[in-house]
Amino acid sequence: SSLEDTLISAIRNIPDYPKPGIMFRDITTLLGNARAYRRAIDELVHPYAGSKIDKIAGIEARGFILGGAMAHQLSSGFIPIRKKGKLPHETVRVAYSLEYGLDEMEMHKDAVVPGEKVILVDDLIATGGTAEGAVKLLRQMGADIVAACFVIDLPELGGRAKLEALDVPVRTLVAFE
Ligand code: 5GP
Repeated sequence: SSLEDTLISAIRNIPDYPKPGIMFRDITTLLGNARAYRRAIDELVHPYAGSKIDKIAGIEARGFILGGAMAHQLSSGFIPIRKKGKLPHETVRVAYSLEYGLDEMEMHKDAVVPGEKVILVDDLIATGGTAEGAVKLLRQMGADIVAACFVIDLPELGGRAKLEALDVPVRTLVAFE
């Protein structure tokens, strides 16, 4: 079957989670499906095969699972972008918008050497607020963001447009209304 069918059928849909009216796209079933997980990682990395990507930056927590596998395949380093208070060394911190209110995320100050080519990854882009925060952190430390990659796009929520307005190329594998 096509890649899109393989991925869509491996993603579990959970109605009314985390609250009524929300359809949660659960990727644990995709991660648990060896073929779907491999195909998703292969598709995420294939445009960069043969080019030098210094680091993959993954957003806690599902971006770690995708980003670690991508880093291995591209022989890149890995940068964890975490919720505030989790990283032990000196950090840069940014506030980002959630559906209701703000939260903060952090990255180690020495995680990027200025000019390094970095790919950002998370499982899903909705409003783009989370990814926008990560872009700010990476650029503050001088990263050259080659692309932001996501398995799932929720196009109606406008995240892709938000990142493209920041001149970040966006790649997504499947979309849900
Ligand atoms: P945004 O900041 O783009 O509005 O929301 C994206 C963030 O929320 C990502 O870190 C993503 O993991 C999480 N997220 C929001 N909705 C879902 C969902 O339905 N499924 C999954 N797996 N993650 C979600």
